[in-house]
Amino acid sequence: MRSVRQFRVDPAVPKILAGLNRLANNLHWCWDRELQQLFSDLHPNAWEQSGHQPLAMLARISPAEWAELALDSQVVTAVDNAVERLDEALTSARWFQTKVAQHGPSPLDLVAYFSPEFGISETVPQYSGGLGILAGDHLKASSDLGIPLVAIGLLYAEGYFRQSLDADGWQQERYPLLDTAGMALVNTGHQVQIDLAGETVTVSVWRADVGRIAMYLLDAPGVTDRLYGGDVEHRLRQEMVLGIGGVRALRALGLAPQVFHTNEGHAGFLAFERIRELVASGLSFVEAVEASRAGGVFTTHTPVPAGIDRFPRELIQKYFGSYVAQLGVSFDQLMAIGQRADEPDETRFNMAVMGLRLSARANGVAALHGAVSREMFNGLWPTVPVSEVPIGSITNGVHAHSWISPEMDEVLRRGVHGVWDGADENSWAQAYSIDHSAVWAARSAGRSRLVDYVRDRMGDGILDPDVLTIGFARRFATYKRATLLLSRPERLKRLLLDPHRPMQFVFAGKAHPADQPGKEMIQNIERFAREEDVRHRFVFLPDYDIAVARLMYHGCDVWLNNPRRPQEACGTSGMKAALNGVLNCSIRDGWWDEWSDGENGWDIVSADDDPDSGRRDQREAMSLFGLLEQEIAPLFYSDIGRHDAPKGWVDKMLHNWATLGPKVTASRMVRDYVTHLYEPAAAGSAAVNAHNSAPARDLASWKQRVRIAWPAVRITGLETESVPGRAGDSRPVRATVDLGGLQVGDVTVQILHGPIDNAGALIEPSVAQVPLTATDDGTWAGEYVVGSPGAYGVTLRVLPTHALLANPVELGLVTWAD
Ligand SMILES: *Cc1c(COP(=O)(O)O)cnc(C)c1O
Repeated sequence: MRSVRQFRVDPAVPKILAGLNRLANNLHWCWDRELQQLFSDLHPNAWEQSGHQPLAMLARISPAEWAELALDSQVVTAVDNAVERLDEALTSARWFQTKVAQHGPSPLDLVAYFSPEFGISETVPQYSGGLGILAGDHLKASSDLGIPLVAIGLLYAEGYFRQSLDADGWQQERYPLLDTAGMALVNTGHQVQIDLAGETVTVSVWRADVGRIAMYLLDAPGVTDRLYGGDVEHRLRQEMVLGIGGVRALRALGLAPQVFHTNEGHAGFLAFERIRELVASGLSFVEAVEASRAGGVFTTHTPVPAGIDRFPRELIQKYFGSYVAQLGVSFDQLMAIGQRADEPDETRFNMAVMGLRLSARANGVAALHGAVSREMFNGLWPTVPVSEVPIGSITNGVHAHSWISPEMDEVLRRGVHGVWDGADENSWAQAYSIDHSAVWAARSAGRSRLVDYVRDRMGDGILDPDVLTIGFARRFATYKRATLLLSRPERLKRLLLDPHRPMQFVFAGKAHPADQPGKEMIQNIERFAREEDVRHRFVFLPDYDIAVARLMYHGCDVWLNNPRRPQEACGTSGMKAALNGVLNCSIRDGWWDEWSDGENGWDIVSADDDPDSGRRDQREAMSLFGLLEQEIAPLFYSDIGRHDAPKGWVDKMLHNWATLGPKVTASRMVRDYVTHLYEPAAAGSAAVNAHNSAPARDLASWKQRVRIAWPAVRITGLETESVPGRAGDSRPVRATVDLGGLQVGDVTVQILHGPIDNAGALIEPSVAQVPLTATDDGTWAGEYVVGSPGAYGVTLRVLPTHALLANPVELGLVTWAD
């Protein structure tokens, strides 16, 4: 039976320990290890039985036990200290405040970060994988850095599935109903409504505090039941609740962010809702687009076209058929926002295309992924060279204190810096002098804990705490090729069972419930793991989640990553491993392509130029086997005194820290987002929205005028010397330009120059710093400085120019000299 009135009963915590309620109600405990220890010491049984969930744990303590605890002065002091630490975390000046104090006011008042999932803790299971974990780490780091940010997501009744394997090794899925009471969520009492194809759905707004960041989660019965559950229509309904409901929730809460960050296309409908608000306030559609997109940041997370949400036209018609009138456009115009002119056969609405059009700033999540995204979306800006497509990149990072083992934390605190998370390269260079035996003791402690955990779950005699341990944990998507090593089972067995230099593997990961090939991969791994001769050296750990992942980062020696390049947009598990001194053995894809230096781990040779995918897999498997046999095992088992650290191996761990430590953290990532995207977006948004959005109106009408005139814009003459010269020469250029009715101030005429190939094409041209200037006789004049020796070329181009453009090529209008 369903209750008709609901309320919360708080645990009977004595007054003197009341701080515990506050501590349990802020998810900051997830990265305060001392506080976790305090909860555990308070009542070890309740802590275990609650699954390490502080609120649920407090509820398990009896009044008699509370009375006793209240008399323990050590407990009282520990609680007071923890409250002090929380207050400090919530109120002290952090990076953002210090930056403002030193460099003056920031244009940034508030960012709203939208994501379909948030992975904060295994006890708040509102995530499925990498995207959610990244979002959780973004919030935690934003809290640590004092960034003014609120988060918007969905509250799933069941979260993602729990995994087990049946007798055949086939993945089974369970969807236990989650206990929101234990998840430190409070109902804000605010509700918003949203029309889903004629049905009015009421959305309740819940809040969880992640340090100083408020995370608002939207609950819409019947819609937010399962993370990525249901068909494409169900997904559309969820995305409408997230995007449209999310903006309405912000308004109900009285929040007016300048910057809206869309973490992947799923939240993209937020842009429609912001446009609707602006149209309601009197702007036309195109004016509203300018007023909203200036504050929009869109992050794309997949280099695989099939990984992007696309909705059939009929569904968009069904759900936006009446909404479209409130935007002041026709339905076809609305559809066109999610479609590409260069894909005339694709009739579906593409969420990434919408995100790119309706956000002034966009990025991929690693340098390589940025480059792949520029290729992938070049068609939206066809006259723009691929290198200038307006999609940048900010490489992901991981929240250091959520992922570091207690032992390694201690090693880094002593050896690198008291505050090593976010420390600079000079501090991290100290890693080279860290004592080898301390590092090895920490590594061995983590390995033993992992082995104990596996034995607890799977039986005695499985794994060995002294054997080289290799981890592979990730979503079982086929491009990640979890079974690459199984292509040579006998060779793999020889590695596992080598009498002098054995190795052991721990695999974990879930396949999407609808992904049959992914499930077959799990089954193949599990079948191999059950073979009598290797079962002690090769395991699949079911029900991969944050807790399992953490144990593996703490306990492995090597982290294996062998996707088909370049399909892994970034990958973050290897970063968590690297912080823990686990050495990466990886294809050069995602973040590893950027930061591998050839010595801080191992590169599996990628054969991505091989058109035969079967042969390619084989070649890459051979490279991996070669590394395991000839480099990894020998290094791990070399120069060991009886209990000593293997010197070469630990040296490599130290080099791994020195080179990767300053880069792989979410504190670096969030600082990059603030300086490269959030602050410029906030300034841009403030500029177009001053004086009742008058600048947005001007910008919109200017763009319309420029678009109409542009086809007539031409470079009609170009005069410059082409006699041989020397590097460093300055060469004048004179041009005549037909402006097709535009004014001189509407355009920039740029000189591009540089070395050319045999066909005369410029190879990575430089743009001369000073553009041509219009002269009194109607021509354009300027000069450039010749660069390197060799065959050299020069050309001109005309771009539209306006002070409020976020990017000079955003209109996709570029006219080249011919
Ligand atoms: C880090 C992490 C991921 C993402 O790892 P990838 O390397 O991007 O595949 C997924 N799930 C969990 C639980 C994680 O901790």
